[in-house]
Parts: sequence; C-alpha cells; structure tokens
Amino acid sequence: MDYKKHIEIINDYPVKGVQFKDITPLMQNGEVYQKAIDEMAEYVKSKDVDVIAAPEARGFVVGCPIAYTLNKSFVPVRKSGKLPRMVVETNYGLEYGKASLAIHKDAINPGDRVLITDDLLATGGTIDATIQLVEELGGEVVGCAFLIELAYLEHGEKLKNYDVYSLMTYE
Ligand code: 5GP
Repeated sequence: MDYKKHIEIINDYPVKGVQFKDITPLMQNGEVYQKAIDEMAEYVKSKDVDVIAAPEARGFVVGCPIAYTLNKSFVPVRKSGKLPRMVVETNYGLEYGKASLAIHKDAINPGDRVLITDDLLATGGTIDATIQLVEELGGEVVGCAFLIELAYLEHGEKLKNYDVYSLMTYE
C-alpha cells in the first residue's frame, strides 16, 4: 500500500520553512485508514504491551484505534490544564514553539509495558516528553509507533534507547 499517496504536503505551514504533512486525507479514506491502523497494530501486538499512551490530539487518532483493535487500555497524554485529576507534568520544545504535557498520576502502574503512539515524529520533543512522563510513573516504554517519521530532523539521540516503528519515512 502506497500510504504516502494519501498524505498532503503543505509548504510553510504553520510557519515559514516547515513542510507540514497533513494526515487528514489518509483518515478520510476509511479503507486506507483501517489498513494503516491494522499494520501498526501488528507491530504493537509483537511488543506484548499492557497500555497504549499517546499525546493529544493526533496521537489519539492512531493510539485509540490500535488500543481498541488489540483490546488494550488507552492513556491520554494531554496539554497542561486539561486533565481533571492529579497529574505529573513536563515542559518541552517543539519543531515550532514550546509546550507542556501532563498524564494522570494513576494512569500507569509501575512495571506496565507501555507503547507510545503519535501521528508523526519530527524533532522527537513530544515523544521524549511523553516517555519521561510514562517513566516517571514507573512504566517501561517497550516501543514508539508513528504513522510518519521525518528522518531529515535530528531525533536520533533522543530515541536511541527505544524501539521505533514508522509506517512511512520521509528522507
Ligand atoms: P516533534 O515533537 O517530534 O518535533 O513534533 C511532533 C509533534 O508535532 C506530533 O505530535 C505531531 O502531531 C506534530 N507535528 C509536527 N510536525 C507535523 C507535521 O508536519 N504534520 C503533522 N500531522 N503533525 C506534525
């Protein structure tokens, strides 16, 4: 399946110099979206996970259907101020800008095997922050799965100790 046919590239969005990969055309094609999720779920299944965690919002587009398919629990990682109960939080840098993420304190049990998903890996800041939160709660990050990896950005150092899967890679 040529998944890249269903990704639209938008130049200078949201800021000049960024080539934004729009995944919404892929999501709008039910058959392609399902195939992409099924293929990612095969990888996730091989990691024998307890929990799937994903940062909002596009991480949910990938993580929720994988969790549903594999009958696993799903943990949302959200921007600060959005979760209603006790959280742990962390600040991090983005390809464009700064942000902070939070996770419910009781969302992960020590020793849980956690698989993290997101739509896209760029500089790795978002996934690195998500890994930190999961590990702070005692979870073991057994892998990270993405629809898209931007191999031309420097994320290698951040993720060098983790197993990374991506359905599509842009060199
Ligand atoms: P990073 O933290 O790795 O630099 O950026 C990845 C995060 O920013 C992901 O959560 C992703 O949703 C968002 N992001 C950055 N660039 C793009 C892009 O070109 N397309 C999409 N769909 N998301 C992006």
